Amino acid sequence: MNENIIKRHVVGVDVSTDLTTYAIVDMQGGILAKETFATSDYLNVNEYVSVLCEKIIALVEQHVGYESIRSVGVSVPSGNFITGSMENASNMPWKGHVPLAAMLRDRLGLSVALGNDAHVTAVAERAFGAAHGLSNFIVVTISHGGLGSCIFLDGHPHLGAEGFAGEFGHICIYEDGRQCSCGHRGCLEEYASARGLVRTVREIVEEGRDSSLKDKGELTPQLIAIACEQGDEVAIEAFKRTGRILGGALATYASLVDPEAIILTGDMTAYSKWMMSDLKETFESNIFQNLKGKVNITISPLNNGERDVLGASALAWYVKEYSLFK
Ligand SMILES: [Zn+2]
Repeated sequence: MNENIIKRHVVGVDVSTDLTTYAIVDMQGGILAKETFATSDYLNVNEYVSVLCEKIIALVEQHVGYESIRSVGVSVPSGNFITGSMENASNMPWKGHVPLAAMLRDRLGLSVALGNDAHVTAVAERAFGAAHGLSNFIVVTISHGGLGSCIFLDGHPHLGAEGFAGEFGHICIYEDGRQCSCGHRGCLEEYASARGLVRTVREIVEEGRDSSLKDKGELTPQLIAIACEQGDEVAIEAFKRTGRILGGALATYASLVDPEAIILTGDMTAYSKWMMSDLKETFESNIFQNLKGKVNITISPLNNGERDVLGASALAWYVKEYSLFK
């Protein structure tokens, strides 16, 4: 039988700090089976990879059979597509350079592609989401974890010489600004992310404004959005400031790249109605004049719980087919 006809499925794996999600996906982005387990249970990466491979093989054998799997795509924090390694992921238990793609390939006998969250998210948008049919676009992920981005130029992801292009979260927007987890000060991520929004609420309260959020313990974007619904002016102002800061930074980004669209993704976009008008207004007033009104800023239509695993599966099609047991 023709191998190309048989191998019509891929496996997508999304590795995040707390959960690992793995799924069998068909060529149209249909998820045939999906499972999760706790990443944080495995402090030893060899043990983690062994368990992940056992689980993948069990799922594959149960649903479609090993011989129908073409390749595997993996999304990991600080993943480098060029080297196939996870490199110095600050929020993961495994330190240094971890050659995750090679480790999985050796155990599964299949080719493995690996990318970071932002790269994988952009691949998902192009294959199944808001960037379908576009060649030049930027995907920006705004989430509890921070702020990342990926640039597609002429239909290809621009990864950069070292594989780290698009580190939008760590551009400096205020000299001597807020302390960032990367060690620098004034990074955009400390303003335009879930953490940044919470810091902005605290800052406005410190300016002497009264708010229902003042005496709340741990704040989340969800709690702040609920306060917005109830008319809390500090909560509303915090989202507006976030929108203006992000809009200004995106105008700079778009002036450099000249994209057809900017797609916003990540869990923070659930509350985008509180910041979008300020974001777009600041964006349009700061972008290079010849690009005014030309860049479509839109929210991803993909489901937050499925985007990463779908993107990982789409990434799997980028590597050449290879099977140890063919
Ligand atoms: Zn930083």
